[in-house]
Amino acid sequence: MASNKRWITLFIIFVIISLASGCKGERKPIEERCDYDGVKIEPLYAVYFTLQDGSEKKFCSIVCAFMSFSELKKKVKEVMVVDEISGKKISDSQAFFVESEVVTVLHNKNRIHAFGNREDAEKHLKRFNGRWNENPFR
Ligand SMILES: [Zn+2]
Repeated sequence: MASNKRWITLFIIFVIISLASGCKGERKPIEERCDYDGVKIEPLYAVYFTLQDGSEKKFCSIVCAFMSFSELKKKVKEVMVVDEISGKKISDSQAFFVESEVVTVLHNKNRIHAFGNREDAEKHLKRFNGRWNENPFR
């Protein structure tokens, strides 16, 4: 009888251990990382390239996207930036770019901001001592 109990105890311990380790291995949320410097992407400041072959590149900031753009230029089919106000993805041709005192991504000191409409861009520009920036992807 005594040895039987020991087996049951061992069995329970085994179950607990396997449950615990199973939980640990559970899927982590997939983090979006910058294709240029591997930094975690803040969706509000992200830039996306669609290449000719249909693949996508994503970047943490306009600075990183611009660094890669010179290299990928011929392969880039479409550039999408994010409107800082609404968080919506917009085509770079529709965006207004402003360079200001506000840094969006700390590690590379990105100061270039993208906006979906002119009023928002102007507001930011006046408030943060900014100036208009040409579309870096044209
Ligand atoms: Zn980056």
